[in-house]
Amino acid sequence: MNLHEYQGKELLSSFGVRIQRGIVAQSAKDAVDAAKQMTAETGTGWHVIKAQVHAGGRGKGGGVKLAKNLQEVEEIAGNIIGMDLVTPQTSAEGKRVHQVLIAEDVYYPGDNEPEEYYMSVLLNRGTGKNMIMYSTEGGMDIETVAEETPHLIFTEEIDPALGLLGFQARRVAFNLGLSGGAFKEMTKFVSALYTAYVKSDASLFEINPVLKTSDDKIMAVDAKVTLDDNALYRHKDLKELRDLREENPIEVEAGALGLNYVDLDGNVGCMVNGAGLAMATMDLIKQAGGEPANFLDVGGTADAARVEAAFKIILKDPAVKAILINIFGGIVRCDRVAQGVIDAYKNMGNISVPIIVRLQGTNADIAKELIDNSGLDVMSATEFQEAADKVQEVLG
Ligand code: GDP
Ligand code: MN
Repeated sequence: MNLHEYQGKELLSSFGVRIQRGIVAQSAKDAVDAAKQMTAETGTGWHVIKAQVHAGGRGKGGGVKLAKNLQEVEEIAGNIIGMDLVTPQTSAEGKRVHQVLIAEDVYYPGDNEPEEYYMSVLLNRGTGKNMIMYSTEGGMDIETVAEETPHLIFTEEIDPALGLLGFQARRVAFNLGLSGGAFKEMTKFVSALYTAYVKSDASLFEINPVLKTSDDKIMAVDAKVTLDDNALYRHKDLKELRDLREENPIEVEAGALGLNYVDLDGNVGCMVNGAGLAMATMDLIKQAGGEPANFLDVGGTADAARVEAAFKIILKDPAVKAILINIFGGIVRCDRVAQGVIDAYKNMGNISVPIIVRLQGTNADIAKELIDNSGLDVMSATEFQEAADKVQEVLG
């Protein structure tokens, strides 16, 4: 589950991480009130208006703007709220902005130039340890830094039994070229950030930029937070931060039905049991000249009700030109699945796209007979290749 920037920052702040402060607003009028309140709290007259959507690169898309007075706050907030923000990380249609963060301007002039760093905390699956990735090259695409100047990205791996040790936090500050007050601030920042990551069961914290202000404060200006769904049951407060408006509506519906569904761009809908077989099936579709329209794992219990639910979900995608059902009957017998497909098909009345069914495992032969004798526009296949050929055939 992803959080909005403002939610991520509140979470960080609750663990003692210094943040660029702000107040979220749903309308231009609220934005002005928020700006007044920020001025009262921080003394700043300048504010940054930041679109709150689940996508990065907002600055590039015009979703982050500086306002130098209340009139500009109202104008800019009014323009950003309701817009479809297109960034390098959204689709071409963009993401509708429902709210903005009115943040204090923290790039104020002073003794030193403000500096932007990059920092993230995530799991290194290779070593099974959490790591802190950081770089002096903050503010811009970290992907570009990784590609063109990989030596400017540092990592610090953390032993889960020991936690982040003092010398590690100091090494981070040292590698970022800090000294004096900023060095101390950075060690505190990194420690608090790591604690927040562990205590909230996150799978990613990405702070880009981490800012060194002109008076040597270290703070989070942005916050991308992904929480581990499997641990949400023990964070009731965090669970409530979910914003369904930011998620794909078909995926939300599928999730509520207990189906593991991920929407993709292709034209062949897939219904599969087991994630591994689902991946293999997507490869098969590609080889047959199609593109998978979705990833869908119906799970172990592929009975008629689940098959029907899965059909309905797949057919909500108008790009689907064919459906490939590829199910291995281990615990669930193939003939039961076949009957499920037939029942679901009849219940739904009119399915306008060709369906190819491959059932393998227990009672596969009976299942094939059931499908072949059903009189429905459903093609059966036994072998993987045969299924691929039929997909190719129906796609023309
Ligand atoms: P992103 O584009 O979605 O990653 O959004 P960010 O929160 O990272 O903001 C984008 C950029 O806006 C930052 O890299 C900064 O350069 C700029 N920005 C953010 N906060 C301030 C601020 O307080 N003052 C000024 N002048 N610029 C800011
Ligand atoms: Mn950013």
